[in-house]
Amino acid sequence: MVDKRKYFKLQQEEIAKIKQSGKKPSLLLHVCCGPCTSGPLLALAEIFEVTLTYNNSNIFPKSEWQRRLWTLEEMLKKFERKYGHKINLVAFAYDETYQKEVLSPYADEKEGGKRCHICFENRMKEAFAFAQENGFEYFTTVMSISRQKDAIKLNEIGEKLASLFPKTKYFYSDFKKGNGQIVKDQLTKEFELYNQNYCGCIYTYKDGQKRNEAALAKQKAEELKNR
Ligand code: SF4
Repeated sequence: MVDKRKYFKLQQEEIAKIKQSGKKPSLLLHVCCGPCTSGPLLALAEIFEVTLTYNNSNIFPKSEWQRRLWTLEEMLKKFERKYGHKINLVAFAYDETYQKEVLSPYADEKEGGKRCHICFENRMKEAFAFAQENGFEYFTTVMSISRQKDAIKLNEIGEKLASLFPKTKYFYSDFKKGNGQIVKDQLTKEFELYNQNYCGCIYTYKDGQKRNEAALAKQKAEELKNR
């Protein structure tokens, strides 16, 4: 059985090693949205020269992909104002074919299953390749911050991809741990960030719509009851 604390321990050990070196290495951080970036960024910006990559064509529809990108930019402005760290962001163009070509063969999979593993790997691979091409010393993703995402799987994928891109070191992480979730929730609230209610693809979008409709129906029923 895999020790679930392992990746957080590796994360802390690497940070301690870097602090001891007195250097501030470059890190390309794959990010999925503003809220999920805020907590990990606070943990990393003192240690690394961080650049973000937003390559998330898994998000449906495109207007939602745009909204999350704007929220990310807004978060970075507020983060810089509060903490003084200027963070660069590289946004990849939206690929309209992603839902159909990458995800639709796994349409029947539940969230957290094979479709998600393919989706993680695809985006991480693209970003990792960019990191190596552009001389970054480290690469990782913020996705382990999410309660719905398996940190073990994400780190296994990162480890596998590291053999394809040996000039950039994979930074093991589990951003949920060490109060990561609490910090993320606090910053999301403090910065008043839009926080979506579904992961991204068309399949979870439909689930999100159903949740919205159910919440609306419940609210209407309450209003009627209180009249
Ligand atoms: S649920 Fe999220 S991670 Fe899974 S396939 Fe959809 S967008 Fe990708």
